[in-house]
Amino acid sequence: MERRALVRNIFLAGIAAALPLKTLLAKGNKTNTSSGRPFHRFQLGALELTVVTDGYLAMSPVQPNFAPDVPPEQVAGLLQHSFRSTKEIDLAMNVLIIKKDKQLILVDTGAGNGFGANAGWLLSSLTDAGIQAGDITDIVITHAHPDHIGGLLDAQGKRTFPNAQIHLSAIEHQFWMHAASQDFSKSKFTDKAFLQQIIQGTKQTLTTLHDSLHLFNHPSQLFGCIRLELAAGHTPGHTLVHVYSDDEELVHIADLMHSDVLLFPHPEWGFFGDTDFSQATLTRKKVLAILAENKKTVFGYHLPWPGIGHVRANNDAWEWVPQAYAIPG
Ligand SMILES: [Zn+2]
Repeated sequence: MERRALVRNIFLAGIAAALPLKTLLAKGNKTNTSSGRPFHRFQLGALELTVVTDGYLAMSPVQPNFAPDVPPEQVAGLLQHSFRSTKEIDLAMNVLIIKKDKQLILVDTGAGNGFGANAGWLLSSLTDAGIQAGDITDIVITHAHPDHIGGLLDAQGKRTFPNAQIHLSAIEHQFWMHAASQDFSKSKFTDKAFLQQIIQGTKQTLTTLHDSLHLFNHPSQLFGCIRLELAAGHTPGHTLVHVYSDDEELVHIADLMHSDVLLFPHPEWGFFGDTDFSQATLTRKKVLAILAENKKTVFGYHLPWPGIGHVRANNDAWEWVPQAYAIPG
């Protein structure tokens, strides 16, 4: 997908609450019938965790979406060294579900109807994992970008998860409800017209869901199994979700990392979608150092399926060590 097309899709997802997208996006019409897609389920202490896919975003060209200020031969060289395409970077959309007794907690909601046929698979993926939309009791939002909140409303602007309470950072809520395009002056994403439309769409979504919205501060805890930590840069209220039970912990790093092979060895190369490019780099380095030190299990929303692994120090930077599985599921 060309960058322009991706940006357009982000915009369309952002206005999901405002317009009947099915009339705008012929390719966006998807059925929610079960597809038989695999899901990944495992125990974390007393919790049952499930990972499902919302699909993927193909980002092309690689630059300037990634590493906008780096010589192209360096970026292409690292991709080739990693046996990856130099034409595009596929971003997974891994969605985590936490089951604690009768509580079923979704972390982010995927892209919804605005990103075309390769995204917005969440409902059918949940069905494949034996979960219905009405079963979800709570939703924790890591940040309010359209590929994370797009699934909150359907194409008609109605709530996808009718029984869910929604938990969002107070900083994030404040930012989007009052944002203007100049608030993105430290980002490499500079198309002001599109930014304005994303802002409008996000405001509309948050306003529509106002009655179910619960704003949290950092740090804080939820449900006796979640600790919320501010990791600003990608957005001002971008939140890490620590999931814990007994002595076990998994750290959901949300959008700290958008590429395994580029940003672990070069966190400073950066990503165009970061609201504050420099702050995102500083936060990325700080969090990677801690994760490498404490060796905690990590979950990345955009890292290759199912997004689970560890961070290891490597020379002056880091590398991603994905969890390996002997069998599917
Ligand atoms: Zn994202």
